[in-house]
Amino acid sequence: MPRFELGTSPTRTERATRLRHTPKPGHRVAPMLRAVLFDVDFTLARPGPELGPEGYVRAGERHGLRLEPGRYEAARDGALVDLRRHPELEHDDEIWFRFTEQIVLGMGGDAESAYACAVEITRAWERHENFELYDDVPDVLTQLRSAGLRIGLVSNSARDVREFARHHGLEVDAGISSFHHGRTKPHASIFRAVLDLLGVEPAHALMVGDTISDDIEGARALDMRAILLDREGRRPEFEPRIETLDELPPLLGL
Ligand SMILES: [Mg+2]
Repeated sequence: MPRFELGTSPTRTERATRLRHTPKPGHRVAPMLRAVLFDVDFTLARPGPELGPEGYVRAGERHGLRLEPGRYEAARDGALVDLRRHPELEHDDEIWFRFTEQIVLGMGGDAESAYACAVEITRAWERHENFELYDDVPDVLTQLRSAGLRIGLVSNSARDVREFARHHGLEVDAGISSFHHGRTKPHASIFRAVLDLLGVEPAHALMVGDTISDDIEGARALDMRAILLDREGRRPEFEPRIETLDELPPLLGL
């Protein structure tokens, strides 16, 4: 596997040079790395069925709505087009209530009950049991911790991410969600808050996440290193990038 300095986008020539000078296994390529920060949603865990189309249908029934599961994808795509960040990057549940309301409407919900139904669905995102860990997560986190790296979670969500880790049997050293911190990624302060808890400088930390604008650009603005976890293979041109977490330890020379 080619190795490269994290947080940079090598040119073709640089990449070729690095391939010729691949360090021997056991040499840590990421110098002075002391901590790895992870995004949570779609990085460590994915929403389970209760947060997908069938969950919408069941929530709809509780609000007297007949929602069509087959319209979920298109409704969500439509809602994503209109999704806007808070201008000051403040955590704002209302953004997600309105986003979810648009999906409910797009699945055939009527305007009167859609908002209340959307609030209930959004609240379900706060429940740890509604998420499933990706299979590669437990082993990789164990490997990183065994190598002496500290683990932090930084999440744009309303969940207590330390509780989340406990619920799913993960050992982490620190974790903050935007709800508790007040600002969302890519605001620098949420990354700093986790680094402060870990007692690690940005230059000694690596961020791993699935969203370029929040996880990667946010981390790089602080001079952290960052790797895109592209599980669906949607951004093949992006570097540095991995498609499974299993690729991470070798990339760090572990
Ligand atoms: Mg994510």
